[in-house]
Amino acid sequence: MENIIIIGSGPSGGRFAAQLTRAGYSCTMLEAGRKFTSKEFPLSELDGSAKLYWGGGIELSTDAKLAFLRAKCVGGTSIVNQALLDEFDDNAWDDWRDRSGIKDLGTSTYKPYYSKVASDLSIQPIEDRYFNKNTKVFVDAFTKNGLGYSRLNRGQKDCALDSGNDCMACLCGCPRNSKQSSMVTGITTAESKGMTLKTEFEVTDLIHSNDGVTVRGIQRGQKRELKAKRVVLAAGSFGSTQIMLRSGFKSQLPALGKGITAHPQFMTYAFYDSPIDAHKGAFQAVKSYDPALRKRGLKLENVFAAPIATSMLFSGMGKEHLARMKKYRYVASMEVAIRDENSGTLDVDKNGKLIIKKSMTDVDWAKVHDGLDLVKNLFHSVNARETEACMQVFGLHLMGGCALGSDPKTSVVDPEFKVHGLKNITIADSSVFPSAPGINPSYTIMALSEKASENIIKGGRS
Ligand SMILES: Cc1cc2nc3c(=O)[nH]c(=O)nc-3n(C[C@H](O)[C@H](O)[C@H](O)COP(=O)(O)OP(=O)(O)OC[C@H]3O[C@@H](n4cnc5c(N)ncnc54)[C@H](O)[C@@H]3O)c2cc1C
Repeated sequence: MENIIIIGSGPSGGRFAAQLTRAGYSCTMLEAGRKFTSKEFPLSELDGSAKLYWGGGIELSTDAKLAFLRAKCVGGTSIVNQALLDEFDDNAWDDWRDRSGIKDLGTSTYKPYYSKVASDLSIQPIEDRYFNKNTKVFVDAFTKNGLGYSRLNRGQKDCALDSGNDCMACLCGCPRNSKQSSMVTGITTAESKGMTLKTEFEVTDLIHSNDGVTVRGIQRGQKRELKAKRVVLAAGSFGSTQIMLRSGFKSQLPALGKGITAHPQFMTYAFYDSPIDAHKGAFQAVKSYDPALRKRGLKLENVFAAPIATSMLFSGMGKEHLARMKKYRYVASMEVAIRDENSGTLDVDKNGKLIIKKSMTDVDWAKVHDGLDLVKNLFHSVNARETEACMQVFGLHLMGGCALGSDPKTSVVDPEFKVHGLKNITIADSSVFPSAPGINPSYTIMALSEKASENIIKGGRS
């Protein structure tokens, strides 16, 4: 039976692992981070950042103006994310089709793959009775201003909200195994079907030949080398692109490392006269759902306010900062994320370290200011005393670097999810995004990986 190495254990790696092992493939998964059980996840925000993320919390662009977050642990970024699962709309697919030249990218092709993914997960909206005060402020503001909103769907099973559980803890890994991370879904399935999981194994590079791929890396300080008939790269936008660049494939793939996007997001806090407690109860529950906002490239969500993150984002020093933090329970928070241009690039230095070049373009900044003005007006329309917009740019949805496309001059991965000219390497993770969709990406990453797994299975076994 053909053996396959899967590199990376996030939403993409998890889908490949489940589907390929179900089809009888012998799979080994390599993950740079360590494995935490639900009982071992860090209990505080600071500890969580240090233990669960690359770069001990954040990685920066070369000009230090953009901060990026991606997890380094079994389950990948699905361990720390908010588990919001949104399907793409026609607008996102149309853009991808135009850019990639791949005709079957669209709702009619991908609807069945979303359904297959959904059949393996528990996806729930937050019911009205669980709306916290932060959600109610968002809903009131949107209703008052005639803007459309909808509930967010979350990959969750049993958040125990009736027993007073505060979902914020799950940002450092869900202690209840309610969040449907790839660790509790695809990887659990694959391990029950015999997959070997090697942790703290950082892949450095690949050597491709006609009959397979050699994977080189370092596991707990020891050099390792493994061989497989096929490699699935699922190390995420930054991870997969870094491995491809370190492997020296740039000379044959000119588009490698290009088109990095991140849905840059900005938090605004609004101060109220009575407590809001934006860190309590259910997670964020609603998002903007309005054609006019979509056209403006804006996505708004009623995000929670985690205390340490909030303290880092609030302005002021010393007494002024302390005074603001004393009002912590009285703030509502709303995030605006923009659909950014394909301006970023990734490269590696002579030691294989990532060089992240990504600046906001003038078009991006125009969207940011449009979005921040909108959020400020929304808050003031529902009696906020004061608002504070935080100008630190965060990228949480890292995308691109190995774009999908039919032309090897402008893309890296072909319509079958194989790398152009390197037929034994498959990629369908966040690195293959040809542009920023302006929509939460995980569900589509899983749907793409579901389809790519099917391609491998249909392609037969040696
Ligand atoms: C705080 C936060 C909240 C988010 N919330 C949402 C949300 O609600 N909804 C949504 O859709 N998206 C959300 N996202 C984004 C989403 O989680 C990611 O887009 C998604 O997880 C990417 O999936 P992936 O499989 O491509 O990569 P990842 O999930 O990043 O997984 C890649 C894995 O590969 C490993 N890896 C990398 N390099 C190597 C190497 N060299 N060797 C071995 N292993 C390697 C990494 O350690 C990691 O475990 C959020 C992100 C963050 C940071």
